[in-house]
Amino acid sequence: MSDSASSPSQTQFPVQAVRGLKDVLPDESAKWQRLEAVCRDVFGRYGFGEIRTPIFEVTGLFARGIGEATDIVEKEMYTFVDRNGQSLSLRPEGTAGVIRAYIQNQLQREALTRLCYAGPMFRHERPQAGRQRQFHQIGAEVLGSASPSVDVELITLMADLFRELEVTGLTLELNSIGCPDCRPAYGEALVAFLDGVLDALCENCQRRRHGNPLRVLDCKVPACGEATRLAPVITGCLCAACADHYRAVKDGLAAAGVAYRENPRMVRGLDYYGRTAFEWTTTALGAQNTVAAGGRYDRLTEQLGGQPRPGIGFALGVERVLLLMRDVVAPAPDLFVVMLGDAAEARMLPILRAARQAGVRVDRAFDGGGLKAQLKRANKSGARWCAIVGEEELARGVCQIKDMAGHSQREVALEHMVDAVRAALSAPRTEG
Ligand code: ATP
Ligand code: MG
Repeated sequence: MSDSASSPSQTQFPVQAVRGLKDVLPDESAKWQRLEAVCRDVFGRYGFGEIRTPIFEVTGLFARGIGEATDIVEKEMYTFVDRNGQSLSLRPEGTAGVIRAYIQNQLQREALTRLCYAGPMFRHERPQAGRQRQFHQIGAEVLGSASPSVDVELITLMADLFRELEVTGLTLELNSIGCPDCRPAYGEALVAFLDGVLDALCENCQRRRHGNPLRVLDCKVPACGEATRLAPVITGCLCAACADHYRAVKDGLAAAGVAYRENPRMVRGLDYYGRTAFEWTTTALGAQNTVAAGGRYDRLTEQLGGQPRPGIGFALGVERVLLLMRDVVAPAPDLFVVMLGDAAEARMLPILRAARQAGVRVDRAFDGGGLKAQLKRANKSGARWCAIVGEEELARGVCQIKDMAGHSQREVALEHMVDAVRAALSAPRTEG
């Protein structure tokens, strides 16, 4: 390990970002903003309100809400003791904090609560493409109804999100993982099967097959996948109520026009998760093939000390979705103002301000330079229009407005400049 800078006094300057953490530079942020804007818009159309919860919570919330025996809680959390001796953790996912806030703020008084969120999450994992230690999720939770129609609507929302983002080639994988009534029988059947193929399983799975047999089906070790290929599937063991619920979700998705593929091997290893489970997968991102995941958790609010309320949620991995989106170019300035001399600048400052207040994107040079140098900058800025104010224009109270594509140039009185630019911007672009 080259982690010699563990003591602050040994830090080498200039400092690098911590491994697995990334800066998002202006070139990329246009794409982030598009993703966020689309999500905000689609969530709004489906009646979701945004919730913003803290970045860290008491560690026990995650241990209880995500599960002690999960990879996240066992080995991925950033946990620290603060100056009061309290164990806190950076949030590794959003659901636990949202449910904590739902209980604390008594949102359960509403019949149905639809919450969405966006923000950074933290997991100590091995960084690679689409896998970081600080990454971002956008997600949603619907609390208060166990109706399969809620599942259908939430999944349909996701389909609309991806459609609007023009992310194609995703597969929606769907399963039902039953309820506390039907899962134990399945668990027994699964353990009996696993005992028969024990030698072929990885050490981890050999150990967890009793406590948490469903998670063996989720193991990423190829040998385990091979060994459990013929394992019994949960869909064969669903009780009548779970089977009906699952049927209704599938019928609803079909009616809404959302294609899915049943994957009876997709599981969640915690007993307060139940019934609907789903993942959106891609073949375009190598090992990081899950873009978004979610499911029903009808006993999580109770588990976290609240009144029982059924819920369902999902989270999408922002970095992974961004890898699947086409590039978005940040908008160029509308207008570049070339000012020659201090007097021109002084006269133009209030006009520049008025233009910006009127919604025009204005750029300019700051370090003087002659006409040629400033025009070069105007060109480089990508601005569609350029306004030139030299000594001679200043004396006559006018400026030259020039179409940077080279089609036209005309003279406009300074007091009409903002209106002229706005009119020019709203006119259709002539191709050149
Ligand atoms: P994986 O199997 O890829 O580790 P996961 O099951 O741990 O995923 P979830 O906890 O279901 O993931 O999180 C939902 C989504 O968040 C994932 O589908 C993925 O898109 C994204 N995600 C999870 N961990 C990371 C990470 N370390 N870096 C980037 N994105 C992540
Ligand atoms: Mg993971």
